[in-house]
Amino acid sequence: MSDWIYKIDNLENDNNASLLNETIFHNANGYLGVRSCFEEGYSKDYETIRGTYINGVYNITEMKQAEQLYGFVNKKQTIVNVVDTQGIQLWLDDEKFNLQEGNVVSHSRSLDMKNGYTVRKIIWKSPKGKIIQVSIKRMASFIERNLFTIEYKVKSINFDGIISILSTHIGDVRNYSNQNDPRVADEAEKHLVPKKIIIEDDMSCILSETTTLALKVCSVVKNVCLDKINSTISKEKTMVLEKIEAEIDKDETVILKKFTVLTDSRRTPNCLEEAKEIMNRVTRAGLTEMYHLQKIYLDDFWNRSNLEIDGNKKMNLAIKYNLFQLLQSIGKDEYCSIAAKGLSGEGYEGHYFWDSEIYIFPFFLLTNPQIARNLLEYRYNILDSARENARILGHSRGALYPWRTIAGEECSGYFLSGSAQYHINSDIAYAVVNYYLATKDLEFIVNKGLEILLETARLWLSVGHYYQEQFHIMAVTGPDEYTCMVNDNYYTNASAQYNLRWAAKLYGMLKQTGRIDKLIRKIELSEEEVEAFVRASEKMYLPYSEEMGINPQDSSFLSKPVWDFENTPKENYPLLLHYHPLYLNRFQVCKQADTVLAYFLYEDTQTLDVMKKSFDYYEKITTHDSSLSTCIFSIIASKLGLLEKAVDYMGDSVYLDLYNTHKNTKDGIHTANMGGAYMTIVYGLAGLRIKEDGIYLSPLLPVTWKGYKFKIMYEGFEIVIEVDEVCKLTCIDGENVSVYLYGKQYILNNNLVIELQK
Ligand code: BGC
Repeated sequence: MSDWIYKIDNLENDNNASLLNETIFHNANGYLGVRSCFEEGYSKDYETIRGTYINGVYNITEMKQAEQLYGFVNKKQTIVNVVDTQGIQLWLDDEKFNLQEGNVVSHSRSLDMKNGYTVRKIIWKSPKGKIIQVSIKRMASFIERNLFTIEYKVKSINFDGIISILSTHIGDVRNYSNQNDPRVADEAEKHLVPKKIIIEDDMSCILSETTTLALKVCSVVKNVCLDKINSTISKEKTMVLEKIEAEIDKDETVILKKFTVLTDSRRTPNCLEEAKEIMNRVTRAGLTEMYHLQKIYLDDFWNRSNLEIDGNKKMNLAIKYNLFQLLQSIGKDEYCSIAAKGLSGEGYEGHYFWDSEIYIFPFFLLTNPQIARNLLEYRYNILDSARENARILGHSRGALYPWRTIAGEECSGYFLSGSAQYHINSDIAYAVVNYYLATKDLEFIVNKGLEILLETARLWLSVGHYYQEQFHIMAVTGPDEYTCMVNDNYYTNASAQYNLRWAAKLYGMLKQTGRIDKLIRKIELSEEEVEAFVRASEKMYLPYSEEMGINPQDSSFLSKPVWDFENTPKENYPLLLHYHPLYLNRFQVCKQADTVLAYFLYEDTQTLDVMKKSFDYYEKITTHDSSLSTCIFSIIASKLGLLEKAVDYMGDSVYLDLYNTHKNTKDGIHTANMGGAYMTIVYGLAGLRIKEDGIYLSPLLPVTWKGYKFKIMYEGFEIVIEVDEVCKLTCIDGENVSVYLYGKQYILNNNLVIELQK
């Protein structure tokens, strides 16, 4: 198997596999995403999630609350399935190509991560004995982000004749739903209505509008087939059909190039004109040129981001798969972030969570800080909504970011494990601080970052209070969603402490420069308030059990009974699909890393001994029902020197989507976990941390590996980190970098080689 191509051969005619592969081989570029459905469609009894999405394009739907208490959310934003331009049907005389009839001689799918396209190849023998090879290449262009292409090649193996191809452009689409799974929407809604269909210059254009807010989406399709002998294009109420006929001889190939351009009115006022213009530009340039540009873009991406594992080919390929998906999923403008499922499916309705800042941001920060910065720009753009959200929740000052959203308003219906997760605030603050530490981009901090830090810090003063000289935070939910509405969640308190401390620190640093006077006036910040930040952070209560030598997850956690794991049947996992949340809340059982995650992000607040004891404790009661969990356990296992465990957890994380281990990859990839997979190596095995006084590393090498290698950007220059028998650091055009290896300080200029510690 190539190092760069993920391929599945001999695909069976199996609905579960096809649903899964719609996700696994989807094409996206951060702006648009298209699930990899069969162009020819499926038989009626097959389930398919035939979706095309635009990052940040949403509709508003009602979220009915049985009891509408004050401040409850009653509307939500949901990602919209915008159009279906995937359809291409093929006839060999009167026989329609499809995988349910005839004989599928071979069927493979692949994703080429160096070139940035997917290929599906089928050799098919029709019931009447005609044999064809169909090869379909699909690409979401990284350079022209509005562009999705399908190159459809048909080769005749044993006949001469006429083939006809029907290329469809369908405006009447719906979102997917599943009433039995809380992780996807429960009603199949129609969010978008086609308003206008135009055919001009061989292009078909459908202009649609969302049912609320009237956001516009325009799709333009152009079919290019040089081999055609005839073609007709016809328009129906909500779709356009183009029928193309071509002559084919044995051993000859007919090629259709189908270009789709999507635009939306959030980004451009005149999306029809804009889409036509882009279509003209890209078809003039041609598909070969588009492939070429895709390769150039990806050469740069891999040059910055590649993580090479020597000695484990399977993991080496899988980790690249994860990184490639992150690139496909991440928004690259200020209208959007990265959805929990990227642009690969409708799970979690296209919402952005803390996943973006805590799990995904680090990869981009270290490899492509511009994209990382964009995630923060997006948060800055929705700061006003976060201020409003804080008011709804009763806080007269500060901002509270929504737990889940697309355009800024809270979209979480179940507040106990939604809005109550106030840590989203400090998670965003954490990313701002880490952006600063890795880039020293003070410009951003002055213009946007500090405002986020101060407004989020303010909120903690309003949420918390002093009791017996310590600062306590009551009635919030930490990351672990099986334990809701608790007092003094360790993770939340540690993260709020960091938020408060850094808000005061950067404020102090910038105050004397005069550069933030405008900001101080704008948000009416007083010196006393900043002093209060410092005091609250110094007095923050962090739960600790003397008796057990661990940090309790919250102040009542250890007094609950431990969940009866022994008598819980395997099929009852994930527990959230089998037990009422209230029932789960009464036990010591964790869905995901909580305190253990705090040990990764805020490692200097605890001794190694406490971390070790806590890790052992939480490991026994964590189900990892959330995909955000095993990666964190892997990182901390590495930190504690538990290498075998670290590698096991790493495997759980790295292969999660490719092996569909959570059994819901059909609804989309798990982007947070993908960022986590990267972190298991870079932060876990290599022990990377970026702190105020420099870069920290404590590299470990799994016994079965020969080595690994990656590159990071730090303060604008590149550092290559190679770990094999030794650890070698190479600094490209930077100098005097302070690096701590296993705790000992070195000054890195060009190269530094040190022995690995066993
Ligand atoms: C996790 C959350 C996460 C969300 C979206 C949930 O299952 O518990 O922590 O933010 O999924 O990925």
